[in-house]
Amino acid sequence: MLITMISLKGKTAIVTGASRGIGRAIAIECARAGMNVVLNYVSASSVAGMNELQKEISALGVKSIVVRADVSKENDCKKILGAAVAQFGSVYLLANNAGVYSAMPGTPTWELDEKEFDKIFSVNVKGLFFMAKHVGKWMIDNKVKGVIVNTGSIAGLDASVSGSIYGASKAAVHGFTKTWSVEFAKFGIRVNAVAPGPVLTDLLENVSEDRKRSFVEQTPLGVLAEPKDIADAVVFLAQSEKINGQSLVVDGGRIRH
Ligand code: NAP
Repeated sequence: MLITMISLKGKTAIVTGASRGIGRAIAIECARAGMNVVLNYVSASSVAGMNELQKEISALGVKSIVVRADVSKENDCKKILGAAVAQFGSVYLLANNAGVYSAMPGTPTWELDEKEFDKIFSVNVKGLFFMAKHVGKWMIDNKVKGVIVNTGSIAGLDASVSGSIYGASKAAVHGFTKTWSVEFAKFGIRVNAVAPGPVLTDLLENVSEDRKRSFVEQTPLGVLAEPKDIADAVVFLAQSEKINGQSLVVDGGRIRH
């Protein structure tokens, strides 16, 4: 079967949470595919890393801008979109990637608290929603047949070893992906998700070494995915004309859904 692949060259990507880990890799692979990139981050400690990332992207022959914004705030999401349109005139890909993890990974539900719930849901669910709402509406209004790729997790597709709140937040990502893929399809806009298994980024800094070893043991391929593996999946979904409403699992075979 022939799947038509769309050229991303000269198009614009917004990547939320681009300063580190998976988002950084997505930004680089988008640039490698010829896209101009809007790089979002939130923490003051990420400024130096953003400068390095911009240099790396510039060496790939494309342009980037950096927007510091908190995706859990609706006005900040509008700011990211506004900066993208002001600089590049259009947006083709929203890589809706920014996310936070449990401060208490693996803690049972009866020991979790409201602070943990609010922190995780405000970024992973509300932030994802605000970005898709505004970028999606802009694409509709401007007749851009673009694509949204959400970063979910296998924690949202199976029982979560990371804790129920994180797992539920990622289940929401995959739920949004399905409904949005139907709503936005009327306008030629596709919506998909990637569902990474464990990837050794800063996100897992609170995970014990024993648990990290167990991640490898539970992976049939015996090796964890790298940020670039997830980024390659995002670029594939951005380019694949007929794939819509799917969650692409990249986890070395840990779950089968
Ligand atoms: P990471 O290394 O901790 O990076 C998180 C990124 O999100 C950073 O760029 C951070 O920006 C940004 N961010 C956090 N809160 C934000 C906010 N309120 N507004 C804007 N940006 C914000 O994490 P990662 O491993 O790359 O994870 C990226 C995505 O993959 C997340 O959605 C995560 O849930 C998902 N995921 C990760 C794994 C894994 O094992 N690593 C597995 C499955 C899914 P600053 O640097 O400025 O703080």
